[in-house]
Amino acid sequence: MKTKWVKGLLAILVVLIAIILIRTFSPTASDATGNGFDFAPDEARVTGLMSDAVKYKTISFGRDKPTSSKQLIAFHQFLADKFPLVHRSLKREVVNKYSLLYTWQGSAPQEKPVLLLGHLDVVPVIPGTEADWKQPPYAGVVADGYIWGRGTLDNKVNIIGILEAAENMLGAGVQPQRTIYFAFGHDEEQGGIDGALEISKLLESRGVEAEFLIDEGGLVTSGVVPGVDVPLAIIAPAEKGIVTLELKARGAGGHSSVPPKQSSIGILAAAIASLEANQFPRDFSHTQQFLESVADEMGLVNRMVMKNLWLFKPVVMASLANDAQAQAGMRTTTAATVIAGGIKANVLPIDATAKVNFRILPGETPDTVRQRVIDVIDDTRVSVDFDISGQRGMGPSPVSPTEGYGWEKITSAIRDTAAPQRIVITPRLLVAATDTRHYRNLTSNHYRFTYMALPVGDLGTIHGTNERIGVKTLNDTVRFYHRLMSGL
Ligand SMILES: [Zn+2]
Repeated sequence: MKTKWVKGLLAILVVLIAIILIRTFSPTASDATGNGFDFAPDEARVTGLMSDAVKYKTISFGRDKPTSSKQLIAFHQFLADKFPLVHRSLKREVVNKYSLLYTWQGSAPQEKPVLLLGHLDVVPVIPGTEADWKQPPYAGVVADGYIWGRGTLDNKVNIIGILEAAENMLGAGVQPQRTIYFAFGHDEEQGGIDGALEISKLLESRGVEAEFLIDEGGLVTSGVVPGVDVPLAIIAPAEKGIVTLELKARGAGGHSSVPPKQSSIGILAAAIASLEANQFPRDFSHTQQFLESVADEMGLVNRMVMKNLWLFKPVVMASLANDAQAQAGMRTTTAATVIAGGIKANVLPIDATAKVNFRILPGETPDTVRQRVIDVIDDTRVSVDFDISGQRGMGPSPVSPTEGYGWEKITSAIRDTAAPQRIVITPRLLVAATDTRHYRNLTSNHYRFTYMALPVGDLGTIHGTNERIGVKTLNDTVRFYHRLMSGL
């Protein structure tokens, strides 16, 4: 009897090991090397274009601050001067004074059009940090193989990349079959309400239904996954939503010499502590898709684990428990960001308020987030309302398919641009927000990706100090858009 039991167990073990090994050694189909193509941008010209573009301080200071109107208008003129063929052949419209919409009429108008997005504005340099820059942020210095300055990566790379690719195509007499729109908002860094949203409404009013769109939000990088050296093209088929809730606890006030058991500050503090202790549940699916897409590039042990997440998921999740970046990709995050209450040390507070910012995972909405917060706090003395003083909340995006026309066009253009270097395509949830959210009415195929190769150490320069783009990197951006548009 006992040997039978052991034999049965052994048989199960053998099957298990066989499954693990088969999965470990069966390659994923997506790692083919692309074909090269015959187009090389004029490197000196491209470098000069970016160097000049940086000098326009198209800064978004915030919706309650004045628009950098003169700089934006001057930047429009710069684009008109530098891309004469684009401005002669494409229809250019100025939307809501400062945003730009270009229409490149395709030869096959029955085909659905494609949207290429970018934004004209940049974030400010934090006052007092200018001296930390190795090169001044708005001088457009070219040094050490880089063009330095605010906006080079976010997001003038898209503007210059798209327009220069089109300029070259027009010069060579190439016309795409599909109509292509270039939509460049002017206020992405403060929510895109006056720019992208207006462009989107305009296109909707004209009955435009797009095949797909491509916006900022993903890039080419290496070194993000330990042990994986091959470059990864990270494309975001979805982005998280955002909502801020205002928590308010009301007390009776009065003299601090006769306090109640719990003041409004104590009630509020307990509510926040409870939210932090009871985080939103985790959803591993987005992370799983990312890990599986790079599994083939890992060493044997990691590869075995990543290709058998059906078995090892709990181990992987446990190992990522203290990784803030990984956690942000797995759950709706909770961040208490503002707190206020009380006016004087011997006066009991009446209202104590806090703001808590949530980044919402696909599958939830601002309303479900609010309801869960109410349930977790479980204290009727604390009111939970949407914060109406800041940006309005926005649900997470739908998750776009990692197959189909748009996905295929983008990924094959990526592979061809990288060739003969092999590159691995990896879908990954974007934890930040982009202008893409304003275009949900036009297409459900949204891909956030710029062909911009950035070493992992330079990621922090986006919105930070010493933002710069490699001369070769920018050249490849132009090549990518050329390859992509030529195939549409
Ligand atoms: Zn941006």
